[in-house]
Amino acid sequence: MEVYPPSLEKLIKQLSRLPGIGQKSATRVALYLLNSRSELAEGLAKSLMEVKEKIRFCPVCFNFTDDEICPICRDTSRANGALCIVEGPGDQLAIEESGIFKGRYHVLHGVLSPLDGIGPENLRIGELLARLEKEDIKEVIIATNPTAQGETTASYLADLLAKKDIKITRIAFGVPMGGDLKYMDSMTLRHSFKSRMPITS
Ligand SMILES: [Zn+2]
Repeated sequence: MEVYPPSLEKLIKQLSRLPGIGQKSATRVALYLLNSRSELAEGLAKSLMEVKEKIRFCPVCFNFTDDEICPICRDTSRANGALCIVEGPGDQLAIEESGIFKGRYHVLHGVLSPLDGIGPENLRIGELLARLEKEDIKEVIIATNPTAQGETTASYLADLLAKKDIKITRIAFGVPMGGDLKYMDSMTLRHSFKSRMPITS
């Protein structure tokens, strides 16, 4: 039997479909919205519709944008020959926020996962190859995540691009800042040894 009136149950059900939101959190959010001033619900509903209407993929890098072409692809100072390949827009945002990378990006929108039926044709790999033909790219930095699928995707891309006259690099993985070797799993330690580098002053 449903505890709340049907319209409220419906909202809880919709909210619980969101990632990381279970039944309990969905109920809390729904009740909060219900108890708050109507501007909050109206603003939220408007924002939801607006992002769905306005946000599209940049036709160059496939990141989200509400412009024709995203600001990074429009910025000529970022055409420095480096192209960073990421799984999703969230990864691009994290790198961008760090301020460490000044080149351009290419968002794959996923990783290879044969068991889930995700092959190269389901990712933006064809578009990546087309970009490499058109743009003056000297280095491709593969920044997929250090998961089994992320590694498979990185190896696939490295093989695919091996014959091109482009430097292919992979971001390093290992002990995080502030980490402690005693508590690292052997996979992380193995990776940190593999990606060791000379100390530069
Ligand atoms: Zn773009």
